[in-house]
Amino acid sequence: MSVYKTLGVRRVINAYARLTRLGGSLMPAPVLAAMADAATSYVDMFELQQKVGQRLAELTRNEAAYVCNGAAAGLVLSTLACMTGVEGAQKMGLRAIHSPRREVIVQCAQRIPYDDAVQLAGAELVQIGNAIQTFAWELEAAISERTAAVLYIAGEHLQRAALSLDETVRIAHIHGVPVIVDAAAQLPPPENLWRFTKEYSADLAVFSGGKDLCGPQASGLIVGKAELVAACAAHGSPHRGTGRPMKVGKEEIVGLLRAVELYLCEDQVARVAHSEAVVARWVAAFEVFPGVHARRDFPNEAGQPTPRAVVVFDPQIAGLSAADVERLLWEGDPRICVARADDRILITPDTLEPGDDALITERLVALLSSHTSNSKLT
Ligand SMILES: *Cc1c(COP(=O)(O)O)cnc(C)c1O
Repeated sequence: MSVYKTLGVRRVINAYARLTRLGGSLMPAPVLAAMADAATSYVDMFELQQKVGQRLAELTRNEAAYVCNGAAAGLVLSTLACMTGVEGAQKMGLRAIHSPRREVIVQCAQRIPYDDAVQLAGAELVQIGNAIQTFAWELEAAISERTAAVLYIAGEHLQRAALSLDETVRIAHIHGVPVIVDAAAQLPPPENLWRFTKEYSADLAVFSGGKDLCGPQASGLIVGKAELVAACAAHGSPHRGTGRPMKVGKEEIVGLLRAVELYLCEDQVARVAHSEAVVARWVAAFEVFPGVHARRDFPNEAGQPTPRAVVVFDPQIAGLSAADVERLLWEGDPRICVARADDRILITPDTLEPGDDALITERLVALLSSHTSNSKLT
């Protein structure tokens, strides 16, 4: 019996995205095995972080890498690192907040709920631009001797009104200011593990371990310039400074490494082909119902190049609204979690376990069959 059954907690079929509130992602067996292995002995955590960091740097083609316990924690550590540098981290420790560099610039067009992490580090966000446009001179004007870093949130959906990463890095570097890229959900493609830092010369990039990497839910990856990654490590656990509450365990460190190794071997073409096939089956199965329009959607919610299905409901004809469908799928056992926007639901094949796509078809077809016939009878 699974631990969830024992606890009376329903399993969730996640057809939405790799969401923290749904448990992040599911780890493949070799990652679980690596974590179990790591749990069997004591180890020098400094040495483990250093060795795993070196290996992750090689794998991701970066100067350096560091395992943290989530991308949000990675943003806190990256901010602290940019505020103090390595020496400052050792000298200032907990008092990064007294650093003369304690402003982090962010574009209004890229404000997200996770940028609180910057303030948690003790820095202030300095916002430039607006929701419609951002000018290079605004970034120039905001940079001063108080600037610790520029935070850039990667993702196609956040670029429309923002300066490009290219231009942001160019301007920041003219003034000797580092750029931190929040790339938490920017996988796939796997090349993003080095793209932001190598191709665009950003100083640090931060990824979630518990999203597409399918590592431990409480893990994250910081990659980039050796000096700044070392400063992240100096602020992080097992040191006793500001980063200590964001402790990462030996199991997560080893598990994330294994996850990255597997991720870089994954056949992305086969993966997308599988997703396309699932989406095509869903579209065909749902499209036949009156008042229902189903189609393929691309790219996904965070701009990743993977397909999903969009199903639009006309409640008058279908007998159900998108909100009804979302609720009824969630209230079943197992729960099914889909995304919804107004009159449509969005279903992602990427996060499913084998067999889940057929279960979704079955449940949604059953719902639609019972309700369309009702609506026709009345
Ligand atoms: C998910 C996400 C985060 C937070 O990542 P965690 O690994 O859950 O801490 C930060 N920024 C963005 C853009 C995200 O999508």
